[in-house]
Amino acid sequence: MKHLIPYLIDDQKAADDLRQLRWPNGVQCPRCRSAAVESRERCDNGLQRFNCVHCAARLGQQFAMFTDWTSSIFEESKLRPREWLLVIGLWPLKLNTTEIAAAADIQERTAQRCINLLDGGIYETYHLDPTRQLEHQVEADECYQSAGSKGLPREVERRDREPRQRGIQLRGRATAETGRPPILGLVQRRDKTNQDAPAAQVYLEVLENVRTATIKPIIAAKVKVGAQFFTDEYNIYHFTKVDYDHRTVNHGAGEYARRDPDGTCVHCNTMEGMWSGLRNFLDRFKGISQRFLHLRVARYEFLHNYKHLHWCQTFEATLRSIFSTTGDYLRRMAHQHRRMPLTLCYR
Ligand SMILES: [Zn+2]
Repeated sequence: MKHLIPYLIDDQKAADDLRQLRWPNGVQCPRCRSAAVESRERCDNGLQRFNCVHCAARLGQQFAMFTDWTSSIFEESKLRPREWLLVIGLWPLKLNTTEIAAAADIQERTAQRCINLLDGGIYETYHLDPTRQLEHQVEADECYQSAGSKGLPREVERRDREPRQRGIQLRGRATAETGRPPILGLVQRRDKTNQDAPAAQVYLEVLENVRTATIKPIIAAKVKVGAQFFTDEYNIYHFTKVDYDHRTVNHGAGEYARRDPDGTCVHCNTMEGMWSGLRNFLDRFKGISQRFLHLRVARYEFLHNYKHLHWCQTFEATLRSIFSTTGDYLRRMAHQHRRMPLTLCYR
């Protein structure tokens, strides 16, 4: 984080740094994308104001003004640019809310909102990105994560049920309804023959249940047809025979890895390793609400896929991703839950 230090000195410098990342090729009007903009005086919190010449002529002066943060997820936040820069700098370090609040010297509730905005931005722009696909050698597996209604007492009341049972194995596969939502993991193995290949690329999706009907569209969308596809013997994956070179290891018979006659290593060990990484990460939150589980999982997915890069590059990739959304996903999500005590809402 050392390169952030000069920008943390005052809000103007922080705003300048963030602007540079939002518009590396020069400031553009967020409304009409025109580059014909004039700088105006700064806001009290250090953000630069701009006037779009094109919009002023077309729509009138009142529609022509914008700032560094107009139409971004930061637009409605009261946090100052310097505080945001610090929080964004801490975000890739996989800290929980309490730790981020302490490190950035902000209120815990504020830290919670910031983190939800950042995770939500990444979920919307990175996790939901339809162009991201896995190919060559792909492993699939599922795991189950305990998640309830942490911090949402009214939610528990509304559902009118006993607190979730802990430590007791229920019969059958767990579902979101029983308090253990399944997570489907797809991972493209790292190309070991290429020194510069990025880390194994992963895609993680929180599910309601693990039925073929639930996972089939996800696999079809995320794994390129013709890839080698490795799973255990679990029958929900049988349908993948049609589009993929599907090979299974029989965990029930004690088989965890084998080499097929054509030299292919059949195992799901890359994905198994990923699960222990994800569990370590989620354990830091000391209990997690189902409503936010997919956001935290998206953060892990993003950070894992960028982990071969230097911290600076990950930081910049995060901001490029975040600035490509206006936060519509989060607004919709907040709207759906408007009657509940929601830490996600804007201030
Ligand atoms: Zn404009």
